Amino acid sequence: MKFDLACALLSLLPAGALLLSYPRRQWAAAGGLGAAAAAALLLVSAAGPQGRVAASLCAGWGILGGAYALLLCRRSRAERAGQLEALEQTRRRREAAALQVAQVKAAGLRTEREQKETLALYGMIKGFAEALSWEEMRPKLELAVGQFLGVSDFALYVASDTGGFQRLSVRNLDNSPGGSWTTWERYVQEHAVPLTECRILESPERALAVPIHEGAELVGYFYARLPSDQEPEALLAKARTFAAETSLAFRRVKLFQEMERLSQVDGLTGVHRRGAFDEKIREETVRAGTFRTTYSLLMLDIDHFKGLNDRYGHPFGDQVLRRVGQVLNASVYETDFVARYGGEEFVVLMPRAQPEGVMRKAESIRRALAAETFAIAFETISITVSIGVAHFPRDAATPEELVARADGALYQAKSQGRDRVVRYSGGSAPQG
Ligand code: GH3
Ligand code: MG
Ligand code: MG
Repeated sequence: MKFDLACALLSLLPAGALLLSYPRRQWAAAGGLGAAAAAALLLVSAAGPQGRVAASLCAGWGILGGAYALLLCRRSRAERAGQLEALEQTRRRREAAALQVAQVKAAGLRTEREQKETLALYGMIKGFAEALSWEEMRPKLELAVGQFLGVSDFALYVASDTGGFQRLSVRNLDNSPGGSWTTWERYVQEHAVPLTECRILESPERALAVPIHEGAELVGYFYARLPSDQEPEALLAKARTFAAETSLAFRRVKLFQEMERLSQVDGLTGVHRRGAFDEKIREETVRAGTFRTTYSLLMLDIDHFKGLNDRYGHPFGDQVLRRVGQVLNASVYETDFVARYGGEEFVVLMPRAQPEGVMRKAESIRRALAAETFAIAFETISITVSIGVAHFPRDAATPEELVARADGALYQAKSQGRDRVVRYSGGSAPQG
């Protein structure tokens, strides 16, 4: 009876081992297998000859069940390891994808920023290229500084013809503790910094200092107060581009101004050309009419110039003309306007001058020219000039009329014996 019960228990062991091994308890399966083997040994040794067969069958069955449970456990463990590995791979893939997305996003932002910077740079270059005067240049510069450099408090200086620097544009730097040329100059002196490179200053305030060069010559200087979030290296790189573009723009403006000046200046004598005079006298007539002011016109002609040419040659005549131009330029105020009217005739336009003062000036010009001497071969030559004077609006109502009046006065000076100044006095203009 006892033996039967033991056999029955033993036959249950595989089912128990399988149950215990759920879900993956490998130790339970191994325990079941061990217990079945131990029980089989006991039973086989204790049973009689008939019982041995049954005990062996039960034991075999128990061992098989335990082994199968163990196998299941192992398989499930392997499956689990596989699943874990798959999960890990998925996680890694997801991480890699997230990283890729972040990189693409960062690249997108970078591209957007670069695009913005390129556009700002393009805008700056285009704007600068269109500017042909300092007045046109100023708003383009201010726009470029804001868009390209991203600063709003700044000053830009340009080297002036008379030496030193003058402000072309200043924004939000008034009353600043150091926003001026002197600050930079002081900094340079204190730190012995050559004015050759862009710098970030930390004292007396955080600022960007950009010298603008044309070759080795310092032609301008840019100073900007910096917001603390500006990244220094990137800003310095942009500042160098800005300096190069600004230098080119300065050069373009100067060349254009020079070209314009040259187009208005007579190459031989250095005074204005006839075309510039025609424009000037029209402008001055409008101004005098609008503001109820006056202006005077001198017309000057060298006496017996043809004879001078004939006797000493044209190059000598040219030399005389050149000197007359120099003397005239040196004799008048900066607001006066000297031009070569044609051949050996010159005009001087004097805005807001009193008739008496003009006569005195004309007389002093006549004397100054008479005092000039010209050496040729073994001779010393001097010249005389005749001058006709007329006033606007006293003597004429239009520029053409005024020129004719001054010419009339000049004709009178010639007919009265030359080498004199004659004021228009209501006589008629010369005939022919
Ligand atoms: P007047 O006292 O009446 O003015 O006599 P003039 O000989 O000066 O007068 P005219 O107008 O007859 O002569 C002007 C001369 O000026 C004639 C021309 O050869 C000369 N002339 C005009 N332009 C130039 C120039 O660019 N260079 C030189 N050397 N001579 C010139
Ligand atoms: Mg003459
Ligand atoms: Mg003449």
